[in-house]
Amino acid sequence: MAEIIRSVRGMNDILPEMTPYWQVVETSLKQVLDGYGYQEIRLPILEKTELFKRSIGEVTDIVEKEMYTFEDRNGDSLTLRPEGTAGCVRAAMEHSLFNQQQRLWYMGPMFRHERPQKGRYRQFHQLGVEAYGFSGPDIDAEMILLTARLWKKLGLKDISLQVNSLGSTEARVKYRQKLVEYYQANQEQLDEDSQRRLSSNPLRILDSKNPEMQALNQAAPKLIDYLDAESAEHFEQLCATLTEAGIAFEVNPRLVRGLDYYGKTVFEWVTDQLGAQGTVCAGGRYDGLIEQLGGKASTAIGFAIGLERLISLLEAGGVLPEIAGPDVYLVAVGDVAAAQSLLLAESLRDQLPQLRLISHCGGGSFKSQFKRADRSGARWTLILGEEEMAQQTIGVKTMATGEQQTLAWSELANFLSASAFN
Ligand code: ATP
Ligand code: MG
Repeated sequence: MAEIIRSVRGMNDILPEMTPYWQVVETSLKQVLDGYGYQEIRLPILEKTELFKRSIGEVTDIVEKEMYTFEDRNGDSLTLRPEGTAGCVRAAMEHSLFNQQQRLWYMGPMFRHERPQKGRYRQFHQLGVEAYGFSGPDIDAEMILLTARLWKKLGLKDISLQVNSLGSTEARVKYRQKLVEYYQANQEQLDEDSQRRLSSNPLRILDSKNPEMQALNQAAPKLIDYLDAESAEHFEQLCATLTEAGIAFEVNPRLVRGLDYYGKTVFEWVTDQLGAQGTVCAGGRYDGLIEQLGGKASTAIGFAIGLERLISLLEAGGVLPEIAGPDVYLVAVGDVAAAQSLLLAESLRDQLPQLRLISHCGGGSFKSQFKRADRSGARWTLILGEEEMAQQTIGVKTMATGEQQTLAWSELANFLSASAFN
């Protein structure tokens, strides 16, 4: 027999045993976003490569080594989106959304050619949230409050908030110089990645995941000491609002983004429950990006949640939501009953649009059908046999108690609605 074809490394199937959890989590996220007036935007998965080069920048890990880039049949260079912000800004420019304030979200797969490991995949999923046209710290606070509400709704506890301010472009230029001087003075302690970043993107050194770089990074000059007055004020107000709202946070001076268009607020929600891949949600203000992409200057802030990490964390905390089985599993023995059972099921679905009913298909003995009913986790098993057919009745077994009764077909919808949907 030929060997079966397997999925691409780092690109996972999400199987039916897990999809109910994804659906519940996605529904919760959407409900919270809806509660704050954020609207969904649906974006293409493929974009022109140029978009990511110009937005994320050539000297980042993503563009240097993580993108899935290829030429299509016309010879155009396209890239599977590694993140959603660039495409969202592109769409907003293209459709003049920047003329008004916008609160937007999108959810879907992202692609990065990284080394696959727990919490790090080549196809993964993000919820992205972006707000355009707001310059004050109030929207920064709203976004963080929104994420805090998400965790609360999902029952998540092992997660904590880190914030920092990256200041203005001028402040960062000044700071970068100090940072480069510091690292140059300690050059022998830099690992290979950091050596490279020293000339290309020194702020990224602070973000190193190498434990051997930690001490050096801890002692590095802090951006927060170089902030311009406006950014300092913005940050102070954000922190004050978070404190008043009872949101615990830590100011982490090493929290940076290696992308030039980020400024002022950055934040991350992190956990120690997922090993090295501990960042579940990362966000920040990117007022500089729209102009960088050729649009009219506009303010913008956003964050992204890694859904695989979020679901792993719910699993680790034992707070994955309970998934209910169907309401009803309908068993039918014999050809006549089997044919009737499909009609009966249709009539019940007509009468009770919310009913979740599995009709047994494929025949078999009472015993084998019952086994499936049991495994389905249904609340009731309905039983249609020869005798019931003759009398236009149906057996009803309440699975939790084992209690059995016989009802007329005409009584069934009433019985189910009174018991299930009260
Ligand atoms: P990391 O430092 O873990 O590589 P990042 O800075 O590259 O993360 P962002 O681009 O800020 O990540 O993406 C936002 C979130 O998306 C991350 O915090 C994480 O939860 C998730 N994420 C990023 N890359 C991956 C991946 N390869 N697999 C799974 N989730 C990911
Ligand atoms: Mg990364």
